[in-house]
Amino acid sequence: MHALIVKNNNAQRDMLVRALAEQGFETDTESSIETACQYVDSRKYDLICVNQELQDGQGEKFVAYCNAHEHQKNTPILFLTENTELLADDLSVRIDGVVHEITDQQIENQVVHFIDQHLDPVFFEGRILLVEDDDEVAADILQQLEQTGYQVSYFKSADEASAEFDAVTVYGSHADAYDLVITKIIFKTGMQGDDLVARIRSYEDGRGFIPVLAIPDKNNDQRRIALFRAGVNDFLPKPILPEELLVRINNLITNKRLLDKVHDIRRELFKQATTDELTGCQNRHSLMEYSGKFVSQARRHNYPISMLVIDLDHFKAINDNHGHATGDLVLKLTGKLLIDSFRDGDLVARYGGEEFVVLLPYCDGESARVKAEKLRIDIENLQPNELSITTSIGATSIETGSTHDFEAMFHAGDQGVYAAKEKGRNQVVFVALD
Ligand code: GH3
Ligand code: MG
Ligand code: MG
Repeated sequence: MHALIVKNNNAQRDMLVRALAEQGFETDTESSIETACQYVDSRKYDLICVNQELQDGQGEKFVAYCNAHEHQKNTPILFLTENTELLADDLSVRIDGVVHEITDQQIENQVVHFIDQHLDPVFFEGRILLVEDDDEVAADILQQLEQTGYQVSYFKSADEASAEFDAVTVYGSHADAYDLVITKIIFKTGMQGDDLVARIRSYEDGRGFIPVLAIPDKNNDQRRIALFRAGVNDFLPKPILPEELLVRINNLITNKRLLDKVHDIRRELFKQATTDELTGCQNRHSLMEYSGKFVSQARRHNYPISMLVIDLDHFKAINDNHGHATGDLVLKLTGKLLIDSFRDGDLVARYGGEEFVVLLPYCDGESARVKAEKLRIDIENLQPNELSITTSIGATSIETGSTHDFEAMFHAGDQGVYAAKEKGRNQVVFVALD
């Protein structure tokens, strides 16, 4: 979106440019009424900010010019003034809001509030994947989209577009993700549009949710229903009217952005619900929720699974001698070490206080012993705040073909910790399950 700021060149103007950039605006700035009028002649703005005092006259004069202007008569206008008594109705010209210039922060807050109230989120920014084998139609669409500010990747066949989509690694709210696919349905050769749409919808990650705007060849009811069945969100009847094209695109991208936001929030909530805040490990709830599945899958698919139960030695003394904050730091660094030490598919959880549990699928007893011993040494070398810390680790495994469950494993791991403590701490005890 584009804004025009007409204001003398000063620090406040720079601050406004920055504040608007954060709201997604590209901004032109000008300090004279005469040149500002030329700006207005040359492009349509989504927002105009005008200062009351300008170098060559009063801001009202410029506002009157905008009010009467063909392009700008509906553009929201924000009037900036040092007069804290001034209201919109006091002026003889149409403005949509007044910003009283007090502190920078107050100015910024008023501008952001105004944008929230007066501007619909219009997304003329976005990445579009266009698939069309008719050069003329493609050139027409490309020209309109690029003029408006969209980034377009253009493919002449559905096969090429499909390959591009396969190679894509970012999606959803990622800044480089595609926001829309516009595709023809009947191609002269190769993969057809319906197949491309079905393929896109088969992705289980965020790619599968991208909106699709179809360019059908025949505009009849059956065709339309078939298109919607294939997973198309909207279609462009021919002839393609430029304004209609942009409105449909904008609606689809706006909806996608809102949906992306919902997905992001859901992901964040899930993360919060399953993560231990202090250490970044999975929390106890998550361990209890998923451990059963880890073990039953290992049994069903016949691979071994191991468990380490890790308990810091004399941790109470660290709290007592160095304070709770130092105790927290030790836990935090131990958690980080654990997360960094194991594979992505392993489950690393903080079970409670200073006790951690790691589940290791595809890891047999012998490897578990080796990993536990390496971990014990790594923790000994960790030296957070130059403190010496040690751990007692209980290790156990369910070998291929065994019928033990998670509870049996956990009991064995716990017994291992207990034995390690008995034997003088700072060691690994492996407890075999028969
Ligand atoms: P042992 O070698 O037998 O395991 O002794 P220990 O002192 O490590 O074990 P104990 O179970 O007696 O003490 C655990 C301590 O961990 C007591 C508790 O205050 C502390 N603790 C539990 N959760 C937290 C936490 O989130 N932060 C801090 N700083 N301390 C915690
Ligand atoms: Mg302990
Ligand atoms: Mg303990």
